[in-house]
Amino acid sequence: MNSEPRISSKHALFVEALLAGKSATQAAIQAGYAPSNAASTGSRLIRNANIRAELQRRREMSAEQLKMGATQVVSEWVKLVRADPREIVTVTRVCCRYCYGQSGLYQWRTPEEYEEALACYLRTPEKARSGRLPPTNEGGYGYRSRRKPNEECPNCEGEGQPEIMLRDFAQLSPNAIALLDGVKQTRFGLEVKFRDRDAALANIARHLGMFDADSGRKDEQHDPLTALIKSLQKRSSTAPIMTGKENEQ
Ligand SMILES: [Zn+2]
Repeated sequence: MNSEPRISSKHALFVEALLAGKSATQAAIQAGYAPSNAASTGSRLIRNANIRAELQRRREMSAEQLKMGATQVVSEWVKLVRADPREIVTVTRVCCRYCYGQSGLYQWRTPEEYEEALACYLRTPEKARSGRLPPTNEGGYGYRSRRKPNEECPNCEGEGQPEIMLRDFAQLSPNAIALLDGVKQTRFGLEVKFRDRDAALANIARHLGMFDADSGRKDEQHDPLTALIKSLQKRSSTAPIMTGKENEQ
């Protein structure tokens, strides 16, 4: 391993911020430089020979750590990138209300459901009904939302309708847990929030030093996925996210 280059504590903070995935501008601000000209400070610092040497040294250390089992932060990013959102939410096609209704008419779950709909109709002032007829129960009862669509259905012709299902969180893999940012009750139902996989991928690429490896290219113009694949092809021994097997501790 290289010997430690001598850099100031401010420069060390700048290096830390870069390794944590910040851009040069953000890193300059985090290291305590004036935000007003952080962009030019950042681009000057990133060309500084001592800083570059320190970055190189730290990245070599990082590559070693990745080989041995990954730093905690990077392994979280890797989990995120590998996570399959279908473990958390699935969309399946299920029967519509007309699939199994008698004579192809709307099918109710129970008599109570029908009576409630009828009562609601009767409570609605005539003007607000906008010409709608009262609901009928001629399609019968017994609707079950999990049944397969009926190919003979006059309404959906076997297409059914999408049903979104939230999976049991107790069954989630560590990757899916890393991807899940939380669940919120809204007036339209549950809202599932995911953490940003693209950002995680960009962070991994930045951590591996891909963005500043090709001089002349700016971070934002650089496609992180292409860069990551290229780099992993070059350094096959430190390819943490492309293996098929899990890499959990
Ligand atoms: Zn149908």
